[in-house]
Amino acid sequence: MKRILVTGGTGFIGSHTVVELQQHGYEVIIVDNLVNSSIEVLDNIAKITGIKPSFEQFDLADPAKTADFFNRNKDLSGIIHFAAYKAVGESMQKPLEYYRNNIGSLLNILEGMKTCALGDIVFSSSCTVYGQPDELPVTEQAPIKPAWSPYGNTKQMCEEILRFSAASLPIKAIALRYFNPIGAHESALIGELPLGIPNNLVPYITQTAIGLRQSLHVFGNDYDTPDGTAMRDYIHVVDIARAHVVAIGRMINKRMKHNMEIFNLGTGHGFSVLEVIQSFERVSGLKLNYKIVDRRPGDIEKVWASTDFANKELGWKAEKKIDEMMTSAWKWEKALADRKGQQ
Ligand code: UDP
Repeated sequence: MKRILVTGGTGFIGSHTVVELQQHGYEVIIVDNLVNSSIEVLDNIAKITGIKPSFEQFDLADPAKTADFFNRNKDLSGIIHFAAYKAVGESMQKPLEYYRNNIGSLLNILEGMKTCALGDIVFSSSCTVYGQPDELPVTEQAPIKPAWSPYGNTKQMCEEILRFSAASLPIKAIALRYFNPIGAHESALIGELPLGIPNNLVPYITQTAIGLRQSLHVFGNDYDTPDGTAMRDYIHVVDIARAHVVAIGRMINKRMKHNMEIFNLGTGHGFSVLEVIQSFERVSGLKLNYKIVDRRPGDIEKVWASTDFANKELGWKAEKKIDEMMTSAWKWEKALADRKGQQ
């Protein structure tokens, strides 16, 4: 059985990927420091798959602990590296923490891979590397624009570190550029667990509908889009998770065409904020309380992915539609409320 290290495996995308890996016959070991996730995720993964993944709690930005981990785990077949700070706004307040954590942990992992003669790493990247693209849909060849936040900059820098490492070390890397991952596992046992007030649209919608927030603020309706609100490529987290299983299989089975490959993970369709709200209202049967406010600083107007390269090369395609994404997000929010009610 191939053993895969999943860093950040108790997080939102990480936990869904662990489930898919286990269901495809991989053995998983998770490393996570739990600063932005909960240990109970391990039991909930086990409820879905019947297998509780191995787990170690430590900070991958700590060089000694990471080196020790790799010295004890020389039998790994690959790494999927999710562990990182991910809040754009917070990164503006704490740039050094973002650089130290996101860059430091990748460097420590790459050192560890040398120790173990381990060659394969899948990296969590983001469509933020494109900024506001000049052409839509945006392809993987689009130029990388100057970053708008330290968070986005760490994704750009990590991709560069991987590119140069893959050019001169025995390392192969696949960077997956996520568009807007939303939704939750159909079991409603795992999903997104935002700490405090959510920054992202969909958890804000579901928290408003359940009564945790009073009203959703729609940031701007004067964009150059059909209804004036900003447009994004929303993709179901389970579709994203499945792409990681395909990527790690491509590496392990030596099907990569270059030492570093980059793929967009999106659906290819843009939805406006109002269209997302309409989808939520359709599937929940509720009326959402929202109001239009000013644009949020730093937001781009519109972005959606060209999916041709990922579809053709990975043989992967996002399957779930917007209503399915919103149905699962709503089911998850209600399950969270039920669990809280039982406590
Ligand atoms: N958005 C909004 N109200 C919110 C949160 C987000 O109108 O409370 C909008 C935001 O301006 C953007 C879209 O929803 O156009 C997606 O934002 P999100 O933060 O989820 O993802 P981003 O694309 O910024 O990474």
